[in-house]
Amino acid sequence: MENKQSRGIIITIDGWSSCGKSTMARQLARKLGYVYIDSGAMYRAITLYFLRNHVDWTDRSEVRDALGHIELEFHYNTALEQAEMYLNGENVEYVIRDLVIAEKVSEIATIREVREFAVEQQRKMGQKKSIVMDGRDIGTVVFPDAELKIFMTADNAVRVERRFRELFDKNPNITIQEVKDNLEMRDHIDSNREVSPLRKAEDARILDNTDISREEQLNLALSWVREVMDRSDG
Ligand code: C5P
Repeated sequence: MENKQSRGIIITIDGWSSCGKSTMARQLARKLGYVYIDSGAMYRAITLYFLRNHVDWTDRSEVRDALGHIELEFHYNTALEQAEMYLNGENVEYVIRDLVIAEKVSEIATIREVREFAVEQQRKMGQKKSIVMDGRDIGTVVFPDAELKIFMTADNAVRVERRFRELFDKNPNITIQEVKDNLEMRDHIDSNREVSPLRKAEDARILDNTDISREEQLNLALSWVREVMDRSDG
């Protein structure tokens, strides 16, 4: 596969909250030498800006004005070997993972102007291909012509447990119930919103990682990459 990397494809990974999309996307990008883009981080950074600046997001003109003051960039952290989210020049990678942001992000991600703002930048990032992007609407709206689309899913209890363990490291006061409520709320809003709701793209391959290891899921996805590349060769 290595000698075919130069051609580069777009790989999209969508799915429910906390079903391992970012782990999968990061693994794949590392293995293929691709760029990994966490589109959720962009919605989280916008949410952080709105909260800090007391933006009334029910007011469309306030939203438009606020978006005009937001600059989002990913910078690669070589020590951690990962891209990190910067909001107007500040590294916000850590703070955007907080539950305070998770409580509001899905509501803010329903706003058409917010989505247009994020999608435009996401498409620019994909111009050179060789990219793995994860989110909710990447295979359906951002890159409908992507060569490989993956839709991830996992058992609810497993997802809650995984996210709880992640958040607990930062905040030992957090409860399982809080995490469960937040995931359910975000899934509900994401799949019922009017603008680009969370859907499996018709041509997406389903990856259920409830009972498989990280290594197994990576191997499965790599076999799909190989298949797609072989097909485009033939
Ligand atoms: O992926 P993550 O959980 O960090 O995303 C945070 C939130 O951003 C999601 O719950 C969803 O509401 C929103 N989102 C979105 N479209 C994307 C990525 C994330 O609406 N492409």
